[in-house]
Amino acid sequence: MNTLCFAVFAASNLIFAAVKVEARPRLAPLQSQRRKLDSTHFTLIYDARRLSQKQAIEAQSLVEAGWNRCAGLFGQSAVEAEFPLPLHKIQLDLTPSFIGFTGRTFTRYLISQSQSVRSAKGSKKIVKPVERKYQPAAIAVRYAELDYLGLRADYVLTHEIGHVFSGSLYRQAAVEGIGATSLGEGIADWAAGSFGGLPLRPWWGKTLRKTGLWIAPDAFFISGNYHDRPGIDARDLTARYTESALLVQFLVSRFGWPKFHAFALDYSRQRGALDSNESRRRFAQRYKFQWRSKSRDPRQAPDAKSVEATFLQHFGVPWPQLRTEWATEMEEELAPPQQAEQLVLARETYAAIRDYEMWLAGLAQPPAPATHAAIRAAFVRCNSALNKQQTASASRYLQQANRLVKQLRQIRQHKNDGLAKGKGSKRIQSSHRCAY
Ligand SMILES: [Zn+2]
Repeated sequence: MNTLCFAVFAASNLIFAAVKVEARPRLAPLQSQRRKLDSTHFTLIYDARRLSQKQAIEAQSLVEAGWNRCAGLFGQSAVEAEFPLPLHKIQLDLTPSFIGFTGRTFTRYLISQSQSVRSAKGSKKIVKPVERKYQPAAIAVRYAELDYLGLRADYVLTHEIGHVFSGSLYRQAAVEGIGATSLGEGIADWAAGSFGGLPLRPWWGKTLRKTGLWIAPDAFFISGNYHDRPGIDARDLTARYTESALLVQFLVSRFGWPKFHAFALDYSRQRGALDSNESRRRFAQRYKFQWRSKSRDPRQAPDAKSVEATFLQHFGVPWPQLRTEWATEMEEELAPPQQAEQLVLARETYAAIRDYEMWLAGLAQPPAPATHAAIRAAFVRCNSALNKQQTASASRYLQQANRLVKQLRQIRQHKNDGLAKGKGSKRIQSSHRCAY
């Protein structure tokens, strides 16, 4: 009997940089409302009740454009590593059912199979040599909800394809038990090459630093000594995606993708996830198991000297010099005022939506449909204004959406506090069944 004995895959999405090891989702069988559309490199599936054929055809064209962009950026070696012949198409689900984030990718991952058989005498089992196979990559994007989520279709599709093209980093990290591809989200955002319709440019760094959506590079990329904020915070989220993407852009443009690829793995070994040392301490207090892997214990702070050394080792230039040259490039480029304002608003809006959704995902009882619809509508108006570059209107709508979310959260908190004080846990449980 064939036994699935070992599976490694990398999951990435717009929240987590960490490699996840979990059951690969099975796609629902194609029912009457499920539609399928093939392009050269993808098989698109979608629910016709939630997405029109026109939208699916648009996605079909955008996803091939994203593939071509990534093939150009990552080069032939990545194409051959991630898309060996015979070509396995990437599954792209355009109407997944998750909330909390916009897209997720399962990069191509390794399945090793062993075969257990009885010996001739039937006395014991013999395990046949391991056979290795790869599962093709799969992507899921909430394509039908992008007007509310606020991400551009070309951005989010290319971001996810960027994860597929950098899949070898995730596989190696998973095999070694590193637990994270530190710059994974930065690589995917560099691959996407834009945000909010604006091309990724060095001046973003100056703008984000001036508006507080930036973590000092020494703290963020090297030591982990920074104060993180609760929930999905705009500064922390922007650092994980955009600040990382700017560093990736700087390093790849100077040293090329193959050199950067080798660096990225060593850097991940030393830095781990780009989280703060505070969050590692919290994690260590919560999970007090003994670390047995040869890789670094992800609960411990990184050794800053070892992290810095990876830059010198791979690029022949010490980190302080690279950091200074990178900062100079960002400071010297002119930031167009209108675009700068649009970039900051787009980042703040997406963080607000993500924070709201993550809060929703943790609720035992969802809010009343009308309340949720009002909040969504405010975010849709905000995103629509941003798309038209009407930043003043977008800012107003964002404030309105944030006010509605705050009210809802306060009402929920107030109700839970009252129940916790007076009614006991049994009543709290029953109250969660009420529509709210
Ligand atoms: Zn991602």
